[in-house]
Amino acid sequence: MNKPADMTAIATVPLWINGKAQAASSKRAGEVTDPATGTVTKKVPFCNDTDIAAAVAAAKAAFPAWRDTPPLRRARILMRYRELLEAHRPELARLVTGEHGKTLADAAGSVQRGIEVVEFAMGIPHLIKGEHSAEVGTGVDCHSLRQPLGVCAGITPFNFPVMVPLWMYPVAIACGNTFVLKPSEKVPSASMRMAELFKEAGLPDGVFNVVHGDKQAVDAMLAHPDIKAVSFVGSTPIAHYIYETCARNGKRVQALGGAKNHAVVLQDADLEFAADALIGAAYGSAGERCMAISAVVAMGETGDALVAKLKNKAASLKIGPGAGKVDGKEPDMGPLVTRAHRDKVAGYVDKGVAEGAQLVLDGRGLKVSGHEDGFFLGASLFDRVKPEMTIYKDEIFGPVLIVLRVKTLDEAIRLINANPYANGTAVFTRSGGAARRFEREIEVGMVGINVPIPVPVAFFSFGGWRGSLFGDQHVHGMEGVRFYTRGKVVTTRWPDASALPSGFNMPTLG
Ligand code: NAD
Repeated sequence: MNKPADMTAIATVPLWINGKAQAASSKRAGEVTDPATGTVTKKVPFCNDTDIAAAVAAAKAAFPAWRDTPPLRRARILMRYRELLEAHRPELARLVTGEHGKTLADAAGSVQRGIEVVEFAMGIPHLIKGEHSAEVGTGVDCHSLRQPLGVCAGITPFNFPVMVPLWMYPVAIACGNTFVLKPSEKVPSASMRMAELFKEAGLPDGVFNVVHGDKQAVDAMLAHPDIKAVSFVGSTPIAHYIYETCARNGKRVQALGGAKNHAVVLQDADLEFAADALIGAAYGSAGERCMAISAVVAMGETGDALVAKLKNKAASLKIGPGAGKVDGKEPDMGPLVTRAHRDKVAGYVDKGVAEGAQLVLDGRGLKVSGHEDGFFLGASLFDRVKPEMTIYKDEIFGPVLIVLRVKTLDEAIRLINANPYANGTAVFTRSGGAARRFEREIEVGMVGINVPIPVPVAFFSFGGWRGSLFGDQHVHGMEGVRFYTRGKVVTTRWPDASALPSGFNMPTLG
């Protein structure tokens, strides 16, 4: 149970519709908690069909004027928005930490990565230019256009309350669409602040709207005929459901799912460097990152030495409230997002032990002094994990790192390519040849070579393969622009006195 609170004194997060904060008509609501203390801090409305319809109607009404706003003027609003986001980066980071639990420095870094997408979106006028060919036939010209779709929607997960929404709506809006965002009901506040700042930057009312809620709100969005495209980021079962439902309802969809990211450590790797990189990638943000390394694949003789290094480093992690200090220093890791999620992750440690994996470091039962009701869990490390074990097969999404042992690079590649998830992966080696082979043969969307978390910069596209992404286009970069626009090709002839007479055969234009 979360700490009891006087619920009458607790504010309810409003919706953001048509440039204004407003109350939901739905009476259903959830609780937002501070993971460091376990206290309920806010209520969040769970929107019903009427609330969703109001947001979509505002976005639909704003669309024609926004579509017809010159791309450069749209971009100038994004330029002002970028400055405001930058100026409010510490405030946004505090909102993230207060509801997600991650450390302030980590939260600020994620806000920065989101701002980089706004910077990319500022240049979109260049990317939506069409092509033109003169004289494709006698007196005939041909040009192409990329046009916005209309009302687009975003549905986002709890783990990046600022960055993941920013993967979506700046790109959609720069392309001339209007947008309805439904952030995770566990972390609703940052999206509201980002909506206020967008208005301050000069965005016309109705172009960006925020709704809240659970499955009922999502289902209302998926069924709404005026939503033309849906971007989703979350767990794989829900991503699959979103993809199928949107396809059935005739909507364009990109649905990014969960992950099990492997890092292969070859025998020639710099083990100290690799272990340092892996510790940050596995336990940063308490393992609640879709690009976290959750499985280390140690090759040959490296296993024993690597596990010893990982154990020492993981055992010395400073764990405490994300906005506080541990021994006078910033913590390395904060609490998990909710009590239920913390207990689920701890349950995976129980399961790993029961299935016979070797528990090298046990993070269960950690108490943080002064924060006894916070959702803390220490770092756990398993060695000699087998592919058939649940802790290998499931995405744990917490501070639990597992180590598997293989004999060859071929075996490592086969293991990774057989995993149902394929979001990110990394290889640690000093051999260019081995790295090159890994890069070419690995069937995963984002690959790091001596880089543990290979999140692409905003002008590339982010997305996995297999169970980590359903749909054809990744987010941001050129694929994001393609997702939020559709092509049209115009063939033009302006008749003059020498115009040819009508014909009845297939025109060849030549
Ligand atoms: P989640 O799937 O539980 O929720 C994501 C969104 O879907 C939320 O907005 C939620 O309200 C909504 N939702 C939840 N249940 C639903 C249902 N039954 N029907 C319709 N909508 C529903 O994910 P989460 O726990 O918030 O986030 C963690 C997951 O997100 C992890 O699996 C992580 O790997 C994944 N993730 C993936 C990426 C990526 O880029 N691939 C990035 C971040 C997070």
